[in-house]
Amino acid sequence: FLDPNYIRDRIRTVPDWPQAGVMFRDITPLLQDAKTFRALIDMFVYRYMGQRLDLVAGIDARGFILASVVAYELNLGFVPVRKKGKLPFASITEEYALEYGSAAVEMHADAVRPGQRVLLMDDLVATGGTLLAGAKLLQRLGANVVEAAAIVDLPSLGGGDRIRASGLDLYAVCA
Ligand code: 5GP
Repeated sequence: FLDPNYIRDRIRTVPDWPQAGVMFRDITPLLQDAKTFRALIDMFVYRYMGQRLDLVAGIDARGFILASVVAYELNLGFVPVRKKGKLPFASITEEYALEYGSAAVEMHADAVRPGQRVLLMDDLVATGGTLLAGAKLLQRLGANVVEAAAIVDLPSLGGGDRIRASGLDLYAVCA
């Protein structure tokens, strides 16, 4: 099961969603299948179980599904990086550019302490903007982002290169 092709084969491509011309990678079939879901989580757990980490952060909303389970398995706490306007307590915000317009992610100001070692997870890297904004939030709070991790890094959009060029390591299970 610990074969990236096994994971890739269970991701469905939906054409023209959410808009014409977009090929959306849908991870719900992967999550729905017990063995595939476990294999996926195990890949992350084996990669990080020997490493010194303090927290796992996940990006709203599909990143939560991965990061919370990985955090639980590694005996670590979980921190949400949320879309703007969802967090109840004092928060910090990071805006980033989209193809048309902009988006913003937020974290609670007390979500991490300076020097804490954090793994940041999302389901997929397209342009890399979302993971970079999440990493920026963590870094603004003084955290050490040990690595960004995702299921898919879509190579055609160059997001992985952009993330690595910023100095952040990226691990993706498949392309
Ligand atoms: P980026 O910021 O790298 O351009 O876009 C990645 C973000 O948008 C991630 O939070 C991801 O969940 C979402 N996203 C963009 N395209 C896709 C896609 O084809 N499939 C999935 N599952 N998420 C996508």
